[in-house]
Amino acid sequence: MSEYSLETLLFHNNHKYDPYTGAVGVPIYNASTFHQQDVDQFGKYDYSRSGNPTREALEEAIAVLEGGVRGFAFASGMAAISTAFLMLSQGDHVVITEDVYGGTYRVVTEVLSRYGIEHTFVDMTDLEAVEQAVQPNTKVFYVETPSNPLLKVTDIGAVSRIAKRHGALTFVDNTFLTPLSQKPLQLGADVVLHSATKFIAGHSDVTAGLAVAKDEVLAKRLGFLQNAFGAILSPQDSWLVLRGLKTLHVRLQQSVSGAMKIASFLQTHPRVKRVHYPGLAGHPGFLLQQQQAADAGAVLSFELENEEAMRQFLAHVQLPVFAVSLGAVESILSYPAKMSHAAMGAAEREKRGISASLLRLSVGLEKHEDLQADFQTALDRITTAQPDFV
Ligand SMILES: *Cc1c(COP(=O)(O)O)cnc(C)c1O
Repeated sequence: MSEYSLETLLFHNNHKYDPYTGAVGVPIYNASTFHQQDVDQFGKYDYSRSGNPTREALEEAIAVLEGGVRGFAFASGMAAISTAFLMLSQGDHVVITEDVYGGTYRVVTEVLSRYGIEHTFVDMTDLEAVEQAVQPNTKVFYVETPSNPLLKVTDIGAVSRIAKRHGALTFVDNTFLTPLSQKPLQLGADVVLHSATKFIAGHSDVTAGLAVAKDEVLAKRLGFLQNAFGAILSPQDSWLVLRGLKTLHVRLQQSVSGAMKIASFLQTHPRVKRVHYPGLAGHPGFLLQQQQAADAGAVLSFELENEEAMRQFLAHVQLPVFAVSLGAVESILSYPAKMSHAAMGAAEREKRGISASLLRLSVGLEKHEDLQADFQTALDRITTAQPDFV
């Protein structure tokens, strides 16, 4: 089927209809165990932790989309990420991007550290810093691009080459762009990770994670760990993610174009101190983003004058939900300092540029004019002393 474009493969795949009944869509196999016909020869499925047909349909779909050999579905993005980290052993070392997702930060600093797995945080946009962070025991380079919440762009190809030179693997969290916009395996990465909770499922109604392995050796290791650790996605939730996947392309198109427009608008508003969006020509990662991805995604962040201005803006803005998460049909505003990055201490946040006036916006499917008018009104109603940013 791979002669089709990814947009078409989102739903014209091996699971377009059920071969037994013709049902359009994948049946939800709510079975924990499977009857075996023969004592000597077990069927393809035996127990659902090890394999379930509904989950497998999703795992196949994500493997094809990312261009890997095998996909794995987990109960959350953190379950996928944590399971991938289980490939490491005591004494190993991870080089990891400094503005990594807060939950990943927590696993690396508070869990892996207890098992003797070391880490060094670096600004991955600085390849020299990446090179300097390498130790003889470095086994994984962990990349998130664009990063959260400052949308910094890391050169996946360049980091993968450094990793290969040191005999290490490259993991890429591709949650922000999805395989429709960025293909880390093609750029040299070894494992791609997703919070499918976000754009892939896309409707704020399911928590899920995905991992895709580049080759058979890694697929075997990840498959073993998925079954051993057991943090699998349920058949119901696998089906929900598959349904979300069918409209990923059209949702992304609408959200990315909205993000570009809102970012440009925010940039011109006198109340906005700074906008972080790799689709803006002034963003330091603008060119790199154009080279390694199809677009700049639908997430941006912006800073106001101070915390008080941020609070007033939030009190007046109507359309977006104010919540943790991103990548949904509705626009989502979040406050990284107290939400995604709460697990990071205040000092660490400041060091990474996650200020008390920074808001992150995930642009949904609303008509862009409505969203912009709402933001304009809320920004115009801020009454703190007018700054002179522009
Ligand atoms: C949300 C998120 C995660 C964690 O995924 P969950 O599904 O919430 O466990 C990991 N990485 C990124 C970039 C995320 O946005």
